[in-house]
Amino acid sequence: MAKKQFKTESKKLLDMMVNSIYTHKEIFLRELISNASDAIDKLYYRSLTDDTVKLVHDDYEIRLTADKAARTLTVADNGCGMSKEELENNLGTIAKSGSFDFKNDPEHKNGEQVDIIGQFGVGFYSAFMVAEKITVESRVYGVDEAFCWESEGADGYTITPCEKETAGTVITIYLKPDTDDERYSDYLEEYHLRSLIKKYSDYIRYPIRMLTEHSQLKDGSEDEYETVTEDETLNSMVPLWKKPASEVSDEEYAQFYQDKYYDYEAPLKVIRQKAEGTSTFEALMFIPAHAPYDYYSKDFEKGLQLYSSGVLIMEKCKDLLPDHFSFVRGLVDSSDLSLNISREMLQQDRQLRIIAKALEKKIASELKKMLENEREKYEQFFKAFGAQLKWGIYSSYGSNKDMLQDILLFRSSDEGNYVTLHEYVSRMKEGQGKIYFASGDTVEKIALLPQVESVIAHGYEVLYLTEDIDEFTLQMLRTYSEKEFLNVCEENLDLSTDEEKETLKAENEAAEELLKFMKESLGDDVSKVQFTNTLGNHPVSLSSEGNVSLGMEKALNKMPGAEEHHIKAEIVLEINIDHPLAARIKELFESDKDKLATYSKILLAQARLVSGVPLDNPAEISDLVCSLML
Ligand code: ADP
Repeated sequence: MAKKQFKTESKKLLDMMVNSIYTHKEIFLRELISNASDAIDKLYYRSLTDDTVKLVHDDYEIRLTADKAARTLTVADNGCGMSKEELENNLGTIAKSGSFDFKNDPEHKNGEQVDIIGQFGVGFYSAFMVAEKITVESRVYGVDEAFCWESEGADGYTITPCEKETAGTVITIYLKPDTDDERYSDYLEEYHLRSLIKKYSDYIRYPIRMLTEHSQLKDGSEDEYETVTEDETLNSMVPLWKKPASEVSDEEYAQFYQDKYYDYEAPLKVIRQKAEGTSTFEALMFIPAHAPYDYYSKDFEKGLQLYSSGVLIMEKCKDLLPDHFSFVRGLVDSSDLSLNISREMLQQDRQLRIIAKALEKKIASELKKMLENEREKYEQFFKAFGAQLKWGIYSSYGSNKDMLQDILLFRSSDEGNYVTLHEYVSRMKEGQGKIYFASGDTVEKIALLPQVESVIAHGYEVLYLTEDIDEFTLQMLRTYSEKEFLNVCEENLDLSTDEEKETLKAENEAAEELLKFMKESLGDDVSKVQFTNTLGNHPVSLSSEGNVSLGMEKALNKMPGAEEHHIKAEIVLEINIDHPLAARIKELFESDKDKLATYSKILLAQARLVSGVPLDNPAEISDLVCSLML
C-alpha cells in the first residue's frame, strides 16, 4: 500500500519530534494517556444518552503493556475509537494543537522551539520522540471494522484494515535503539512507568492499569519467595481539585495548570473554592503570570471548564466569568448541574449564575488579599491585567466600582511607584480637596509637565496615568472617598491664593486685546490664550477645558473609526505671566503684530511638544523658527 504524506504543518511538528533533543521526552506518555482519557470521556458521554452503548463507568480503563523482548510499549483504551477517516484526519494532520497556535505568534517565531515541546500539549506526535515506528489500531464502538495506522515518521503513513476484537484504540510504540545519551528501554521498566504516571497522569479519572510483578513469601513458607503478577492501577484517579488542599504541592498545581492551559510559566496564584449550601461546587482557578499573547485581541475567549461530578461537560463556559476577570483560567466542578444539559439551557441556568456570582466574589477577595499581603506579586499581576480591571469599571458604567476600585493601581509622583487610591487619599495634605492626576506616554514624560511640577511644588501627590483607559476609568469613578479627581492640565486647576488670583485676573483683563489677537492668529487650534501663574519656570503650557482632556483626545483618536470622527480637546494656551517672555509679547503687541503672530504659532508648538502632543505642521514651525533667526 502506498504511503500517504503528512500535511505540511504536521510534517513540521513531526520533524521537530523525530529530531528532538528535548530532554523531557517522557511527556509523550502523558500525551497518549490524556488522549486515551479524552476518548473514553467521549464514549462515556455518549453512553448517557445512547442506549446502544452498553458500558458502565467501571468498565473503562487505560492499559499499559511493556514488552521487553519486542521493545514495544502499548497504550490501550476502550474509548470511542477512530474510523478510517478519523485516523486519516486526526493523525495525518494537526487538529488544534495549542503548540501550533503558539508558534504562529510572531513574538515567539524565533523562540526556543525545543522548550515549546516540553511546555505544551503537543499531542500524539510527541511519541515520535521515542519511537522509530508507531501503530495505531482502532475500532469505533458499535462498528465491526477496524483499521491500523502505521508510520515510521516523516516519510508518511499507511492505513490498512486490521483485526481488533473490542472497540477502542491500541497504540504501539516501537522504541528507538538506546544510545549513549538516551536509554529508551527505560520506558519498558515498571518502576519508571509507575513514576511517570504518578507524575503526570495521577488525576486521570479512569484507571491506568498494568500487570506488575513483585515477589512475596510463598504460602506456608518462611523463607521461600515467589514472583506474582498483579493487575495494578497506577493512578489515584482523584482529580486534583478533589484532593485536600494540604495534599497538593505548588509543583503539582503548576504542572496541572501548564499542561491544561498551555502556559510555559507557572501561575501567579492558585485559587481554590469549595461551596456547599445554595450551590455545591468546587473550583480550581489560576491567575496567569503573564497575559496570553492574544489576551488583548478579539480572538481571546474567556471561560472556565465546566465539569459535572468529574465529567467535563463544557470546555469554555464563558458565563462563569465576568469580563473584568476574564484572565482567570481553571475549572468548576458541580454536582448540581445535570450531565446532559445543553449549552442553551446552561446560559439560563440559575444554578450557574449563582456559581458565577460566588466565583466573582472569591476572585475579587483573593486579589485584594494578594494586594495586601504580596504587593510585588500583585504589581506583576497588575502590569499584565490591570487594564482589564480598569476597563471593567469603565464598560459597566461604574457599576462594578465597589468591587474593583480598591484593587486598582496607578503610578504616582511618589517616585513613579504604584499606589492605590486608598493610599493616595490617606496621605493627602490637609486642605487638599482633590485627587490630582496627569496623563502622558510615560512616567518620565508626565513628571516633566510644567503643571505637574507646580502641583508637586505645592506639596501634593499626582497620579501618573500612562494607559489609554486610565482617564476614562477615573471619569467613570467620578470620586473616590468623596474626593473628586482633577486633571492638573485642566484650565481650572486652582492652586493660587486669593490674592494671586486677583492679580492674575487683573493681568488677563488688562491684556484682553493682546490675548484675543494671539488666539485669532492661531485660529481653531486653540480655544483661548491666557496668562497663568502656575508654571514655575516654564514659559508656556497647554491645558484643556470641557470634558475631553488632551490624554483622552489621544486615546479616542487611536480607536478604530477615529479618522472620520476626529475628536478634539478644547485647548487653552497658557503663558507664564512671571516669565520674561510675557513682557516681550506685550512689547510686540505694540510694535510688531506680524512678529507676534509668528511667536504665537511657535509658542503653541512648544507648548504642544512639552505636553507630549505631536505637531500637525512641523515643517511650518521649523520655517517660522528659522525666519526669526535670520
Ligand atoms: P489533540 O489531542 O491536541 O487534539 P493529538 O495530536 O494528540 O491532538 O490528537 C489528535 C486527535 O486524534 C485527537 O483530537 C483525537 O480526536 C484523536 N485521537 C488521538 N488519540 C486517540 C485515542 N486514543 N482514541 C480516539 N481518538 C484519538
